[in-house]
Amino acid sequence: TPAIDDGRDEFAVPGLPPVHYGHIDTHLRNGVMKAAELAADGEPDAEKAFFVADLSYVYSQHLRWKRLLPEIEPFYAVKCNPDPYVLRLLKALGTGFDCASNGEISQVLSLGVDPSRVIFANPCKATSFVRQSAKAGVEMMTFDNTDELYKIARAHPGAKLVVRILTDDSKSLCRLGLKYGAPLVTVPALLAKAKELDLNVIGVSFHVGSGCYDTAAYVDAIARARAAFDMGKAAGYDFTLLDVGGGFEDATFERAASILKEALDAHFPCRDKMRIIAEPGRYYVSKAFSLAVNVIARRAPPGLEGGGEDSEEADPEQPSVMYYINDGVYGAFNCIMFDHQTPQPYVLCLNGSFHVPASVDMCAASVWGPTCDSIDVVCPVTRLPRTLQVGDWLAFENMGAYTVCAASQFNGFALSNAVYTTGGGVGSAEVRRLLRGSALA
Ligand code: PLP
Repeated sequence: TPAIDDGRDEFAVPGLPPVHYGHIDTHLRNGVMKAAELAADGEPDAEKAFFVADLSYVYSQHLRWKRLLPEIEPFYAVKCNPDPYVLRLLKALGTGFDCASNGEISQVLSLGVDPSRVIFANPCKATSFVRQSAKAGVEMMTFDNTDELYKIARAHPGAKLVVRILTDDSKSLCRLGLKYGAPLVTVPALLAKAKELDLNVIGVSFHVGSGCYDTAAYVDAIARARAAFDMGKAAGYDFTLLDVGGGFEDATFERAASILKEALDAHFPCRDKMRIIAEPGRYYVSKAFSLAVNVIARRAPPGLEGGGEDSEEADPEQPSVMYYINDGVYGAFNCIMFDHQTPQPYVLCLNGSFHVPASVDMCAASVWGPTCDSIDVVCPVTRLPRTLQVGDWLAFENMGAYTVCAASQFNGFALSNAVYTTGGGVGSAEVRRLLRGSALA
């Protein structure tokens, strides 16, 4: 990829890093070259791991959403990645925001987002958070239990409530139903209590589970939502909002969208007075971020220190070398623990060169994070060049969802920062225009 970042189109929102122009790969390489310069200048932490965020990917995912699900308004799930430029871009694109806490609500409102574009989609909130959302003008919020109704009646009686129902999430990566969602049998009593407390319930929400690869889950969920709408009618409500939650995956989005539309047609044939929203998170950001990490150390696995890997008994499937990198499961790779991911590296820079010959000798290797904890393993077994050296670089794609947002600084390792680009393709100019506009707003 040619280095096309000539600096002309760079800009930055005050207090935030600059936004560049050019392909994500260009910036991964630029970052590696800059690290070498910093190292030559004796900078501390010169070889620090870094993300490259391609904001044009977020933009293209939005266009794809509008094309395939024009009827459903996305409320981006801030928890997935509250990156300031991602939020600014989505604000400029007109999405709503799904927030789970006071902190997320404040972050979104501080960008000038109207409170009507926020749903407080956490069914179990602290009373002070409910009170604060009333002050901030955030009205839409979910619930799935009676105590929440008492809480809201006291702290935010004018709220627009959405009953979150339990759906089948057994095929999803993260089963949110273990924690949230009212089983349908409990919904009539919940709605009766809401009526008794004079609360305004406006609709139904569900979440099929994060990382939902079984798109049929939406069929079951829409059928249950229909039943909940009917329960609303029986309780004296006239629901107008359906929130189909998150769980959307890049790879299965076309199929999920068509299944969702079919299910809506079957169960909600008349929906001209209905507002349908969704809470996509990873769909928007997963592929937008890549992470470059430096190989900070290497050693032989215990038992192979004497060069045992060359012995006849050595199992070629078992790691013959351990590579240590400068981000790990306490940092961006917390997605291994919390999001059930299995990230796989590729070689960004081998023996100081960006050219990785096809003939390079590969071997089974393990990849470890930098902390002094043995749980900090990024890849128990993967295949990497045998000749990877300290100072070389690996990269990981699909690092935008549920990574940096949950990273800690355990052992004093700083969080990896992001380098931003608006990409090198056709959408780049439009993304820059939108971001500049949001910076001025
Ligand atoms: N909405 C709620 C209430 C969630 O808890 C989550 C994820 O945990 C999301 C939306 C986003 O889900 P996803 O990233 O799978 O789209």
